[in-house]
Amino acid sequence: MNISKFFVGAVFFLFTAQMSLVHAQSGNQILDGIGETGMIARYIFDGDAKDWSRNNLHARAYGEIDFKDDEQFKKVLSLPGDGKSYISIPGESVQSEESISIATWVNFQSKEPGQLLFDFGKDNRTHFFVAPFGTKEQEGFQAQVILDGKSGYEVLSPDVEIETNQWVHLALVFDVPSKSISVFVNGQEAGKTENVEMELEDLFTHENLLYLGKPIVSGNPYLKAKIYDFRLYRIPLSEKQVSRIRYIALKGGDAVVRREKPEDNLPKFSSDAPQLYNEFLTGVSDVEVETELGYLPRLPRHVKGTYRDGVKGPEVRVLWPSPIDNSEVTKAGSYVVTGRVPGTDFKPKAKISVKAKQDVKTPDMKLEVFGLNQVRLDSDTDGQQTKFIENRDKFINTLAATNPDSFLYMFRNAFGQEQPEGAEPLGVWDSQETKLRGHATGHYLTAIAQAYASTGYDEELQANFANKMDYMVEVLYKLSQMSGKPTKVGGEHESDPTKVPHGPGKSTYDSDLSENGIRTDYWNWGKGFISAYPPDQFIMLENGASYGTQPTQVWAPYYTLHKILAGLMDIYEVSGNKKALEVAKGMGDWVYARLSLLPTDTLISMWNSYIAGEFGGMNEAMARLDRITDEPRYLKVAQLFDNIKMFFGDAEHSHGLAKNVDSFRGLHANQHIPQIMGALEIYRDSESPEYYRVAENFWYKAKHDYMYSIGGVAGARNPTNAECFIGQPATLYENGFSAGGQNETCATYNMLKLTKNLFLFDQRTELMDYYERGLYNHILASVAEDSPANTYHVPLRPGSVKRFGNADMTGFTCCNGTALESSTKLQNSIYFKNKDNSALYVNLFVPSTLEWTEKNIAIEQKTDFPKADNTQLIIKGEGKFDLNIRVPQWATKGFYVKVNGKEQKIKAEPGSYMTLNRKWNNGDVIDVQMPFQFHLDPVMDQQNIASLFYGPVLLVAQEPEPRNDWRKITLNAKNIGSTIEGNPKTLEFTIDGVVFKPFYETYGRHSVYMDVTLE
Ligand SMILES: [Zn+2]
Repeated sequence: MNISKFFVGAVFFLFTAQMSLVHAQSGNQILDGIGETGMIARYIFDGDAKDWSRNNLHARAYGEIDFKDDEQFKKVLSLPGDGKSYISIPGESVQSEESISIATWVNFQSKEPGQLLFDFGKDNRTHFFVAPFGTKEQEGFQAQVILDGKSGYEVLSPDVEIETNQWVHLALVFDVPSKSISVFVNGQEAGKTENVEMELEDLFTHENLLYLGKPIVSGNPYLKAKIYDFRLYRIPLSEKQVSRIRYIALKGGDAVVRREKPEDNLPKFSSDAPQLYNEFLTGVSDVEVETELGYLPRLPRHVKGTYRDGVKGPEVRVLWPSPIDNSEVTKAGSYVVTGRVPGTDFKPKAKISVKAKQDVKTPDMKLEVFGLNQVRLDSDTDGQQTKFIENRDKFINTLAATNPDSFLYMFRNAFGQEQPEGAEPLGVWDSQETKLRGHATGHYLTAIAQAYASTGYDEELQANFANKMDYMVEVLYKLSQMSGKPTKVGGEHESDPTKVPHGPGKSTYDSDLSENGIRTDYWNWGKGFISAYPPDQFIMLENGASYGTQPTQVWAPYYTLHKILAGLMDIYEVSGNKKALEVAKGMGDWVYARLSLLPTDTLISMWNSYIAGEFGGMNEAMARLDRITDEPRYLKVAQLFDNIKMFFGDAEHSHGLAKNVDSFRGLHANQHIPQIMGALEIYRDSESPEYYRVAENFWYKAKHDYMYSIGGVAGARNPTNAECFIGQPATLYENGFSAGGQNETCATYNMLKLTKNLFLFDQRTELMDYYERGLYNHILASVAEDSPANTYHVPLRPGSVKRFGNADMTGFTCCNGTALESSTKLQNSIYFKNKDNSALYVNLFVPSTLEWTEKNIAIEQKTDFPKADNTQLIIKGEGKFDLNIRVPQWATKGFYVKVNGKEQKIKAEPGSYMTLNRKWNNGDVIDVQMPFQFHLDPVMDQQNIASLFYGPVLLVAQEPEPRNDWRKITLNAKNIGSTIEGNPKTLEFTIDGVVFKPFYETYGRHSVYMDVTLE
């Protein structure tokens, strides 16, 4: 009997019941049941001090440290306790974290008091440590926080007796929202201190001393011990998690385990707790819906309700079941689906009629965007800079001061070229050994193209960006021309992208990018190749390599490539630089040569591989290249990136998003949103309606079943990865609000891009309402007060604080890269026009000037919005066109329009566009007023947890200190604004003495959601 097979089967049986909720992708994103977004660094110490996490926070060893063979863990770190040997972890590792957990295996070789397992802090007066055998001053196992030279907090566990020469698992959890510090010995809590009134910023700065085995204060003994698998987490681990980490290690090493259910300290509510307006409900309507054979019906997320006591509640959110295929609609006829209303016993029904195939036409693209050079951001009517201008200038000015050689560093390194004098490499995800290097360069290309197009107001700035574009393209062009060509006449080379050999002296492909390990034989890489690493990662992905930091693993080769190709095309489009287009075409051909040979099954498995198969918007970029060049092979390349499983269910196109099946639950959000954008881009050129349906169905579901109030759609607690969609639709409270942050900022950037593009096809106001929400309340809110530093995840739990990074543009995560793009094109969706220039769309109310050159007309928009509820449009020039102005969904108190002072009788329903059709004259003035109102935006499955809005603006409670319970507020059910005081001109309000401000002006602790009672 095959024992290992039996074992695998048994494990599968154990976990299937727990797995039923989650459709997680394969990959190692979840280590010991904890998502990788919770991990800061991991040092296994099986031969070196490298960080195994994706963050490349490699430690350094000092003195006589050694890696010894071990019975239990094979190879481990050995510290001799000789007064000079220790490990130092990069000081920035713990900067700006909310909480911290440390877990490790240790085998003590001495019981000398004063030995410290670790000693972390900003200097010798402010630090914290674990002393397993006591300190000179105090006996017994303890953890201590020393603040400014004095004992701050301590966890004393005198009963813990630790033996030498045996492995013990030790963990420490510093849980800031819960104000506690706990220590765990062998998976069990061994001591806890509560009422800890301090934050990690009291302990750490941007440079810290993080020692393993060495005391920060001199005079104490060094550690004599063996250490294995030292881990740093940014989330407070629970006892269960600590115990599982230990258990799995004892079982024999790493395991990918799904968590059985979300478990942490998010407050729970009983099923009969009042849920906002639902408490006053007296009835809910049933609905009837038609659908076409094979297509799941789109059930209305909100239906009409009736309320008691004169309360005028909103339409009622209904939670419907969400099938995972289309088996309910494979026969004509009718059936009934039953929904539920959270916090009530109401069970509304949807009667669904399944009709034979109809020929429903999908829309053509009717609208176009204006060039970035056609729209200029202006000051507000008081002459004050708007948040838009503030953020734009933070980015433009810092970008202007960057050195392009930093962004070219890893490209030159990959091609074995000398670095020019003064060239410094970027850090973080573009450092030497990071397999994503070059991604920031792609964003940079887009950013300087957009900055060039947007800075017509300043010649010097514009020339700066023009030079940067030329220089970047020149270098990348030169490198790409070297690929696959001999270095001298008759020299060795391989020009065929499908025949790239192993690197010199290597017997396999690998992703080793270290100074000594990287291959630089560019003459063998096939014609047209360009990237900041050799071609191996692309090839390894085809051969099934997974995501990870080992040389046999990859990160996301096509994701990085998408950024580079998009950037090159952006430069081509704003400047006409033909070399930029040549580089993009060359690499497009390289990709086509390889992917066109692969069987469909291989492509399906590649694109469904977690992170490794993340390809950004390669499909979008290739469809765009087809349009720019009119060379249809690039459209074929685009379609090779179809995520067949998500788009179409399977190779037969049985269901998937094209048939309105939610096929993205539990998947990585930012891996998949750009793919949807690609589907829409392919539709634009192929006119194949199923691609349109993929995009449209996805958007509707993302907005209604996954969105937080700031407009973000990622942030799962189950599966346990903050970057994933929740495991079941419309369960944000049950499965969302992940620890350590939600709403990855680049995912919202991509949602806005998708939303804008969809609106060009279908002018549904709901789209631009969402755009406004995400733009004001996430994108504008993601930038630091005094620099272009910006957010990765935006935390939405009680008493959170935003963490900003990359102020000087030297080290980029995905979100830091994307932020370069967001803040250099803030003006791009204020106005659209239709293709024949007969209509203008005013989507957003932002002070700005539009040069509608095609019509020889300028439109000036003057406003203080959102610090005022009105705007004014002034026509300069003359001509006939439809002026369409968005009437936002939130404008429920009226929408008033005057032309040249004369009140217009117009139909302006909230959630529509109103149209003024006439021949416009020079100097015509249109005044618009749209009174703001307070309204609540509840979490769909726990409606008492809600955000407060005033018009379009998310108002958040300013919190004096960390907390882990929701702030309670009580509002008047008949008029929620009646007890809110404040000044609409500054958008500062108070409720029960607590200050509420716009999220985009909040830099300290905040609560985006409150526990709201209506009475
Ligand atoms: Zn990101």
